[in-house]
Amino acid sequence: MSLLAPASSKRVLSDLRELRKLTEDARGAQRVAWGPAWRKARDWFVKKAEKEAGLKVTRDSAGNLWATLPGKTKTSVIVGSHLDSVPGGGWLDGCLGVMAGLEVMRRYAALGEPPPVTLHLVDWADEEGARFGRSLMGSAASAGTLNAKAELSHLTDRAGVKLPDALNENGIRLDQMKKAHREFLALRAAAYLELHIEQGPVLESMKKDVGVVLGTMGVERHQLRFSGQAAHSGAAPLHLRQDAFLAAAAFAIACRELGVALSGKTPRTRVVATCGVVKVEPNFVTAVPGAAEISIDMRALDARVLAKMLAGAKRAAAIAARKYRVSVSMSPLITITPRIFDPTLTGFVKQSVKAAAGSAPELPSGPLHDASEMAGVVPTAMVFAQSSPGISHTRIENSPEPALDRAIRAFLGAVDRTVQHVAQR
Ligand SMILES: [Zn+2]
Repeated sequence: MSLLAPASSKRVLSDLRELRKLTEDARGAQRVAWGPAWRKARDWFVKKAEKEAGLKVTRDSAGNLWATLPGKTKTSVIVGSHLDSVPGGGWLDGCLGVMAGLEVMRRYAALGEPPPVTLHLVDWADEEGARFGRSLMGSAASAGTLNAKAELSHLTDRAGVKLPDALNENGIRLDQMKKAHREFLALRAAAYLELHIEQGPVLESMKKDVGVVLGTMGVERHQLRFSGQAAHSGAAPLHLRQDAFLAAAAFAIACRELGVALSGKTPRTRVVATCGVVKVEPNFVTAVPGAAEISIDMRALDARVLAKMLAGAKRAAAIAARKYRVSVSMSPLITITPRIFDPTLTGFVKQSVKAAAGSAPELPSGPLHDASEMAGVVPTAMVFAQSSPGISHTRIENSPEPALDRAIRAFLGAVDRTVQHVAQR
């Protein structure tokens, strides 16, 4: 095989800056899926893929874009991420993986002969779910886990636009979306690799530029309702109250303690628990709350630990209810099983991260990614670039340039190792 050009981040960084200029306003990135800025970003991307790597770009039945470089065999390696953003989002979330994927294609296209395996670069449609609330839409359709009719046909955005109409506007038909899974299977994918920013503070706190992602955490999300008795804040003595909010507050603190107790010392074994929504009734200053609704979102990479957390939260709710003489009911909102990435590909990622950044720290992803869907149908691995500040879904999302440079080169190296591995099978 002819020689690949050395891995470089230069073109990826300049592409990212160009895209930022094209699709950002004073509040941040506005590439919300199915809207005009997103289409603009995609048109720009398609032209670039055609012109700079000679790729053929097609769209599948779920709206995902596929740029293909045919190889010596039809067996394929897929790279990619998503160009869509939340409203007022950052310049790297999703775009980093797509533009690094384009660099993969440019390097292999420059060989002057077909690559050893076929390469696909994918831009997943509607990863964020920012407008209609269903995230990972395109990748779930490809993975065969999306029931489009049941899950999507009733969704509307804040302006009242129905999702099927927004899809139609983009040439996608809801009743055809299930075809995307068969289209995906026809790609004969042997591996999926994604580069993404961490979106959290872990790598920064470890002073590491690049991380090896072990998988995406499982999620247990539930809604609880504590029911007591509303009463006058002056007339009701403390010992005679049935204060539903105090029970909810005790539950929230118990969940935090549960998370601390079940967390190990390494990123792999850390768990999180969050009470993000609290509503009390009747909700005025002179009333003892008669009812309190509270949400709990728990995440862990290890399914057994996640099950322990759920059991612990149920116990904590019962104890809090008894203490404050109220009743409690708990209803599930969402359950997602942990997705552990492929050990062989993760090994390649580890070697490449070590080569590009000196060491290869391992961590799970708390957020879900398109890679979570892919992990169910094809061997999958992921690389994280440090976020600094360690936040995302905001205009100030950022990564230092040295971290981006090392992460991009690590990703390109991991793809090379994967291509060699798949070609030799
Ligand atoms: Zn993302």
